[in-house]
Amino acid sequence: MKRVIRYMFIFLGALIAGVYLHEVGHAVAGWVEGVAVVPTPAKEYVLQSQLDWSKYVWVALGGVIGTTVAVLAAGAHFSRKPCFDREAILAGSLVPVGLYALRFLLVGRGHDDTEWQAAQTALGLAAAGHAIDVFFLCLFIVGVIVWGVRLRPRWSSLLRLVPLAVGGTVLLVALQLGNNAVFDRMFPVVTVVNVPAGLDPR
Ligand SMILES: [Zn+2]
Repeated sequence: MKRVIRYMFIFLGALIAGVYLHEVGHAVAGWVEGVAVVPTPAKEYVLQSQLDWSKYVWVALGGVIGTTVAVLAAGAHFSRKPCFDREAILAGSLVPVGLYALRFLLVGRGHDDTEWQAAQTALGLAAAGHAIDVFFLCLFIVGVIVWGVRLRPRWSSLLRLVPLAVGGTVLLVALQLGNNAVFDRMFPVVTVVNVPAGLDPR
């Protein structure tokens, strides 16, 4: 039982850390572009009422890089010495990526608004394409394969993935709602970005 509780705490910590790294990525990219951005645990706040698309694309890309770094670091850490603690870290870091992938498969876009489209623009890719969606889908699959190959789990332990996926989703939603409840009062919520015409903000 103690082991399960320890696993849950590490999983939760890794999930929160991974999401925060995404927001820090947004903020750092903003600072480089001369935009004041505050990273809170589950949302970045741009301290401007208007933000030019040419700067927003980098802020958006920063979040993608933050999430990628979190997953790669957790994957490398686990791969070097597979154990339950490190598995919990990898699993926690994969929750947001798994939900991006799921949202992509269900709705057609992994992130709401135009965050992925903007990040693709920064990379010189087609804004309306799905490069980031496909990238995160592949990252999630690779993460699961690394877990499977390094741990060689018994089929019964695959059942562990079900509560992790469900619990992780609930935790992520709770984190987002809690974050909004606390920080939406402190920072501007709406920043107008001059999104190019023709982009589907789905
Ligand atoms: Zn973001």
